[in-house]
Amino acid sequence: MNIVIMGLPGAGKGTQATEIIKKYPIPHISTGDMFRLAIKNETELGKEAQAYMDRGELVPDEVTIGIVKERLAESDAKDGFLLDGFPRTVAQAEALNDIMAELGSQIDSTLYIDVPEEELMNRLTGRRICEVCGTAYHLVFNPPKKDGVCDLDGGKLYQREDDNPETVQNRLDVNIKKTKPLLEFYENQGILSKVDGARDIDEVFADVDKILETL
Ligand SMILES: [Zn+2]
Repeated sequence: MNIVIMGLPGAGKGTQATEIIKKYPIPHISTGDMFRLAIKNETELGKEAQAYMDRGELVPDEVTIGIVKERLAESDAKDGFLLDGFPRTVAQAEALNDIMAELGSQIDSTLYIDVPEEELMNRLTGRRICEVCGTAYHLVFNPPKKDGVCDLDGGKLYQREDDNPETVQNRLDVNIKKTKPLLEFYENQGILSKVDGARDIDEVFADVDKILETL
């Protein structure tokens, strides 16, 4: 069960990923975790990535792809994985297919958590973050018990500057533009599964689960 999960910011991709690994014994492999692990283990590629980051430069594709390849070759990913945050470009998606072929396997499904732009705007501008622990709340979907205060530690909640409507719209525009060719790529490969993400978490997961059960 080799799965890629995709979704625009606010689509609930992370939530669905959490639900998936609760039910299925596969590792959730996010790009961030992968980089942290490679750097912590001081692999050659981890050191290379670190050097680029230290210089404030973007990590080149070949390094990122190398790190993905190392991670997917680990034994815990042998019977499946949930890949999150990669690929971001068609070139990376092609590289991923090559990696899978080398491992004698393939990507079985690309789950796209599909939420209309207007709904994403509502979701993203309502977010409030605890200044102490970083827990995210939402004014409508996940409000704190007490207005403006974190349930866990009483920390003050604030709106991130990048959650204001203009910034959110820009972020969405950029992401939509980047995501479109990827969706087309996976559609052409016949492995794209779009799930209506504009519903309750449980309803979305029920659909996700239906797809995963067929893999
Ligand atoms: Zn908190």
